[in-house]
Amino acid sequence: MSMQKTLKNTISAQGLGLHTGRNISVTLRPAPVDSGVTFRRVDLADAAAIRALPENVTSTTLATTLGRGENRVSTVEHLMAALSALGVDNLTVEADGPELPVFDGSADEWVRLIGEAGLADLSAPRRFLKVTRPYKITAGDKSIEVRPARQFSVEAHIDFGGAIGRHCFFYTDSEAAFVCEISRSRTFCRLQDVEMMHSQGLAKGGSLDNAVVVGDDGILNPGGLRYDDEFVRHKILDFIGDMAMAGNRIMGHFIIHKPGHELNRRFLASALAQPGLLEETGAEKHRPREAARRLISRLPLSLDDALAPVGL
Ligand SMILES: [Zn+2]
Repeated sequence: MSMQKTLKNTISAQGLGLHTGRNISVTLRPAPVDSGVTFRRVDLADAAAIRALPENVTSTTLATTLGRGENRVSTVEHLMAALSALGVDNLTVEADGPELPVFDGSADEWVRLIGEAGLADLSAPRRFLKVTRPYKITAGDKSIEVRPARQFSVEAHIDFGGAIGRHCFFYTDSEAAFVCEISRSRTFCRLQDVEMMHSQGLAKGGSLDNAVVVGDDGILNPGGLRYDDEFVRHKILDFIGDMAMAGNRIMGHFIIHKPGHELNRRFLASALAQPGLLEETGAEKHRPREAARRLISRLPLSLDDALAPVGL
């Protein structure tokens, strides 16, 4: 049985925020069993902690944002992906601004920080959301489909045309696969998107240091791509982070076409609203009782009489 984990030590870092262009300090602190991942704005007086859950995702424009009004934190998806893939269930994240540092546009620095802080086991089993039947949502030529499976896996397809092109990548959840294949892939955008964002006062901290920028004639970054299919790998990184908002790991095989933060958010909200689609496992206390209830329903005994001797 896998146990819930948190970090062994507190760790801090600083980096540029993509949208504000400001230097942001962030501290990752160990947190207790079943507290999940929570974000706290330390620059606001008495700001309530914001738990990473679907109902707290308030914007998906360019990045995933948690919280409402002034008390919000955006660009959380790369950290959420790293926490999910590396097995950190409970954590308090303190930030002194409205977004997390973007670092190099990938999850590489988050992986390094988590590795440096180390992991600690907690005293309760990890919970999972098991997919019980196939489910799919579509929006034009975009879609997300999930099928029952024993672990989290993603088959991603993108087709942007031009210099980004058409790619497919298959990811099966494991720390090694995440670190070796996914975590170093960077955010990307088209040159015309950068011009549009700057004209609207967005992405003030965006540069070739923290995103792959694609022009009409190819990649503008002097070092080129980290992988030929870096774009689709980054879509998987974002998808892992956005699915981590479910609060527990999803056991299911995903097939995703042209995903994005908004479609990811809509999928999760819609899947969680389907009765019986995602079944929580790992809540050990309840499972034996349910199994016993089914068994005992066939026997000439009252439920309470039958369960009392075994303490259920
Ligand atoms: Zn991203």
